[in-house]
Amino acid sequence: MDIRNVVIMGSGCAGHTAALYNARANLKPLVIEGHEPGGQLSLIENMRKQAARFGADYRIGHVVKADLSKRPFELTVGKEIIQTRALIIASGASARWLGLPNEHALIGHGVSSCATCDGFFFTGKEIVVIGGGDSAMEEATFLTRFATKVTLIHRREQFRASKIMLDRARANSKIEFLTDTVVDDVLDVSKKEVTGLRLRNLKSGESWDFPTSAMFLGIGHIPNTKIFEGQLETDADGYLVTQKNVFTKVPGVFACGDVQDRRYRQAITAAGSGCMAAYEVEKYLEDEGH
Ligand code: NAP
Repeated sequence: MDIRNVVIMGSGCAGHTAALYNARANLKPLVIEGHEPGGQLSLIENMRKQAARFGADYRIGHVVKADLSKRPFELTVGKEIIQTRALIIASGASARWLGLPNEHALIGHGVSSCATCDGFFFTGKEIVVIGGGDSAMEEATFLTRFATKVTLIHRREQFRASKIMLDRARANSKIEFLTDTVVDDVLDVSKKEVTGLRLRNLKSGESWDFPTSAMFLGIGHIPNTKIFEGQLETDADGYLVTQKNVFTKVPGVFACGDVQDRRYRQAITAAGSGCMAAYEVEKYLEDEGH
């Protein structure tokens, strides 16, 4: 079986950048693109083209199993086993959604999980942010740059957000709070855009339709690390724990981008850590005599 120098799991900003750097170092990286090619940002086709031009190999597929106790490491992609001397985990974090049938249908038409990506499109409109943590506060505050009014809807009365973030949102005259309230449906699929939300107050049971142009989710992310459970260190929410930016506790396994970053989560910071991981792979392979 062919042993790869390096496999890169994931094709967001971190994965593509790592691929570009490792390809330029002539390591012929193999990129397994995963379920959500492009990660949370779909504007990075150019990065992919550039890495491919330098010799990165791209394969559509999903790593379903990883055995990091073996040398070379063994990855199962579909029915195939791939062996690699080094591994870069750039599998990202997927936005958490409410799980409503019409929510999914309206993603990109008023339903969004990324305020920095989509906020601009709702300039001059009234919009909604869901959640009660720091992300929701940050998104709501950021979105007041564009929207005329932001209604923050949270399922409880208490907020998980830090005091400073909550106070900042509360002090913003463009933000209104609606607590103890859940979204039961997103309207209106027949118009192919968000026109409102069907809301329900959990205390009174009252249900009503609330007109709005957009629903931004700020209810957290789920890092894509399940296959590494028990093999790599994760924090309480499943994010990979790294030292010196990109090192995991297994030599030869590096992590970059949102899968190990719960704070910055920006395209440019992911790309930066992808570069670091690629650089460390080069050093690692050199030290191992490859
Ligand atoms: P989080 O702290 O886990 O908060 C998620 C919020 O979404 C909670 O209020 C939760 O409600 C709500 N939620 C979850 N599932 C829901 C559902 N199905 N329906 C309705 N509501 C739901 O997540 P986060 O805000 O993304 O923050 C994650 C971490 O990043 C935190 O440690 C945070 O401090 C950090 N962060 C920091 C900054 C900053 O400092 N600038 C910015 C963003 C994030 P409940 O409260 O009822 O569970």
